[in-house]
Amino acid sequence: MTASRRPKSDALFDAAQKIVPGGVNSPVRAWKAVGGTPVHAHSGAGCWLTDVDGNRYVDLVMSYGPLILGHAPARTTAAIVEAAAGGTTFGAPTERELRLAERIVEYVPGVDRVRLVNSGTEATMSALRLARAATGRDAFLKFNGCYHGHGDSFLVKAGSGALTLGEPDSPGVPKALAELTLVAEYNDTDEVRRVFAEHGDRLAAVFVEPIAGNMGTVNPAPGFLEALRELCDAHGVVLVFDEVMTGFRVARGGAIERLGVVPDLVTLGKVIGGGLPIGAYAGKDELMRQIAPLGKVYQAGTLSGNPLATAAGLATLEALEDRGAYECLEDAGAFVQAGLEDAARAAGVPLFVGRCGSMICPYFAAEPVTRFDDVMASDRERWVRFFHVMLDEGVLLPPSPFEAWFLSTAHDTEALEHIVRAGAKALQSVA
Ligand code: PMP
Repeated sequence: MTASRRPKSDALFDAAQKIVPGGVNSPVRAWKAVGGTPVHAHSGAGCWLTDVDGNRYVDLVMSYGPLILGHAPARTTAAIVEAAAGGTTFGAPTERELRLAERIVEYVPGVDRVRLVNSGTEATMSALRLARAATGRDAFLKFNGCYHGHGDSFLVKAGSGALTLGEPDSPGVPKALAELTLVAEYNDTDEVRRVFAEHGDRLAAVFVEPIAGNMGTVNPAPGFLEALRELCDAHGVVLVFDEVMTGFRVARGGAIERLGVVPDLVTLGKVIGGGLPIGAYAGKDELMRQIAPLGKVYQAGTLSGNPLATAAGLATLEALEDRGAYECLEDAGAFVQAGLEDAARAAGVPLFVGRCGSMICPYFAAEPVTRFDDVMASDRERWVRFFHVMLDEGVLLPPSPFEAWFLSTAHDTEALEHIVRAGAKALQSVA
């Protein structure tokens, strides 16, 4: 049905499927959840994405979060070009790495030292190794519906009953390793207390997305993060906030600044690289000084602190220092939320909109969505129909009901009104 509008995407996808697993280099890009051929991007400018067939969309994927200033912001592009002209990688320290680290230390509460890596996955894997080394313990706790990259220890689902040890969520993850990952329900403080009562003294870490962006957008229940902090303190467990998505997004100092709970370690990515590959883990001096070469915990990277990535990241963080950037993001999110809520009421469609700043996710659900079970219970079939109407209306959503939509400072009034208009039409059509 939609294929005829995108013959070049169809042709590229056919060819790619023959030599690339599923035709894509990251699974969600394959549009398995929504069906049809993935839109193949040609170029982006501001909040607009143009596909290889010349169709234009208001982009709400925004590369899953890094593009907080929109596509190809002039200042970032110029910084990348300038950096590239001076050499793309050295294997020697550079000034930009220091300047980026300084900004992270300045803005993210509780951070004394930073190590740059190349992806969010590397950041979480490294933070887990550090927590294990620092505590001398192997097990750790994570939450259903949170995602921390594809490191073996994180690709684990709850076993039978969440208080049991984890089971591999992918072939290739050793069962013996998965058993060291405990899984509890996000926002279920009572369950976390039970886990700590039984296992607290053998946990190295608790990993959590302080605002859960990998099951849409689910905010922490009042007291949930505070309880994690208190339990980790009582049991000598390292509390890790995975802010790969929320860092420099929901506030300059991320969820830590916004919510006021300070972890021991924080992982970052996405925004701090301005659209180039990067990640970081950071935190308290007593922990971070255990990283090689200062300490014994090994972690390294040929391209870590890459000149292009740090140039793009610095340009992005500098642009975010402009007054009003976060207010603009907040207003954009509030506008889309209110527009969708009004349109849903008018259409008689039960809709709950999860939002934190410029991260937003509507669920077809009558009640607030606070846990993974609620996400799974929402009407996902209706969401798929909604997705395709939005696409036809020129709004590109992430191709899964579990992904947050990302707004940027480049989503201007025209684009925001376009989103809400398309949303109203899509809600009418799925009513
Ligand atoms: N942690 C979180 C919270 C994420 O959202 C992601 C990616 N979406 C990752 C870790 C992994 O980051 P990357 O894809 O850069 O490896």
